[in-house]
Amino acid sequence: MKIAILPGDGIGTEIMAEAVKVLGALDLGFDTETALVGGAAYEAHGHPLPESTLSLAKAADAVLFGAVGDWKYDKLERALRPEQAILGLRKHLGLFANFRPAICYEELTHASSLKPELIAGLDILIIRELTGDIYFGQPRGRRTAVDGHFPGAEEAFDTMRYSRPEIERIAHVAFQAARKRRGKVTSVDKANVLETFQFWKDVVTEVHRSYPDVELEHMYVDNAAMQLVRAPKKFDVVVTGNMFGDILSDEAAMLTGSIGMLPSASLDQRNKGLYEPSHGSAPDIAGKGVANPLATILSAAMMLRFSLNQPEAADRIESAVQAVLAAGLRTGDIWSEGTRRVGTREMGDAVLAALTGKTITKS
Ligand code: NAD
Repeated sequence: MKIAILPGDGIGTEIMAEAVKVLGALDLGFDTETALVGGAAYEAHGHPLPESTLSLAKAADAVLFGAVGDWKYDKLERALRPEQAILGLRKHLGLFANFRPAICYEELTHASSLKPELIAGLDILIIRELTGDIYFGQPRGRRTAVDGHFPGAEEAFDTMRYSRPEIERIAHVAFQAARKRRGKVTSVDKANVLETFQFWKDVVTEVHRSYPDVELEHMYVDNAAMQLVRAPKKFDVVVTGNMFGDILSDEAAMLTGSIGMLPSASLDQRNKGLYEPSHGSAPDIAGKGVANPLATILSAAMMLRFSLNQPEAADRIESAVQAVLAAGLRTGDIWSEGTRRVGTREMGDAVLAALTGKTITKS
């Protein structure tokens, strides 16, 4: 088994070092190989996703990814910007299903901006379709308007589209995930306004016939945005398109207090995946040694569970993270009165210690 390690930019390198340390301690005999991606790859090879990095990602059994991006690349042409590496990896590896769990650890209920009783025990899973929708639909571009409110004016346009197989495969993923959880899927659409999402709703309803044991509800995206902050525990699995999922998964992330806690997985048809924290490269805190490495460490746990068939090892990492939080150790993003503020490396060391059976104390 081979894991491709792509740390990326900004805090990516700092948080990845901790995840690699934790993986190494499990002694599972995996090979790891590291490569540049994002801005770091652009600096070295003139492209955010060089051929050598893509070949490594294709050959590996799983990819562990840090984060990419920096404001200094904002003026580069779009194809050379660091974030294009993520889109390229998704496309070339066929990663169509994005899993973003939003779990609120008991110890962190106060870190959320919502009332503790609304989020205590929260455990929801957002499944976002990742390779279709308005983000990839053609045609797109700029032109002179020939009709609309201002004929003759400059305009820009994108195309929202989904094919039946694209919707069917993500619907199957969602129903199967719900079967292993609490058995409920909420399909989020905008069928009242958009043809694409009326079709989405129809196809999801058809696929549901093969899963009579799973409850299906449909919800408009505006209502879903509202319900996520009003009564988030009503959800179990939420499945939606690329753009709605992009927005709702960030909203769900904040329910739990910090984006620094949230792992994610992007899977292909055969459960090969790319695993990454839900946050970006955080240029504002990069190099300071204060970033929270737990989202990346928990992404490594997801990788062990989904792609590398090591559920016990995944459980061990998750329990170690829980033990460290229970002991009161916190990076700055989740710190509160009465807990101990630690840096990136110290947090990684504490997870490692918990993993090897040491008792973690606040001092
Ligand atoms: P961001 O997620 O990097 O940061 C948002 C805020 O959260 C910042 O205040 C940051 O300090 C904080 N934060 C993020 N991760 C943290 C962690 N682990 N510990 C503590 N605090 C953390 O989003 P942004 O500032 O909008 O974007 C910064 C760069 O990252 C941009 O170039 C953007 O394009 C890129 N980005 C990359 C990815 C990715 O690699 N998958 C995702 C989102 C954004």
